[in-house]
Amino acid sequence: MTESSAEDREVVAAFARWAVAAESGDQVAARRCAEEALALARSSNSPFVTVAEALVEEAGGAVVRRPRETPSYSCSFCGAPDGGGHRLVAGPDVFICKSCVDSRVEPRAAGPLRDRPCAFCNKSPSDDATLSATDAHSICDGCVRICVEIFASKGDE
Ligand SMILES: [Zn+2]
Ligand SMILES: [Zn+2]
Repeated sequence: MTESSAEDREVVAAFARWAVAAESGDQVAARRCAEEALALARSSNSPFVTVAEALVEEAGGAVVRRPRETPSYSCSFCGAPDGGGHRLVAGPDVFICKSCVDSRVEPRAAGPLRDRPCAFCNKSPSDDATLSATDAHSICDGCVRICVEIFASKGDE
């Protein structure tokens, strides 16, 4: 594997620390971990940058980001539109909606589709990732967990 995947693992480790802090209700620690993840993701030009930005904002931090040109997005997995702007989690050029994250807990596709790397972190089954796939994209268990945490922290608005 490449150097960047080791860096991605550091980002994932920071996400994991964030999840623990967020679950324990420690907002200060959660924000610190999210900022750490964002810094790591940015320094390695990781696809996790957008997820990390969302976490920092959820934790009450400010994120300076490039303005988005496209006003609306849709779920890359099922095509559902982004209603209020709160129902999609962004990855690198992919989006996933809450219902896809929820249903992704049970892998749906089998066979060749599952050999595709995760659309969020690019992990493949050879990296010991368990992938769930639709016809369009795959997502690994680790990214599903992160998305579940993000949706949980957003609440059901
Ligand atoms: Zn969806
Ligand atoms: Zn993944």
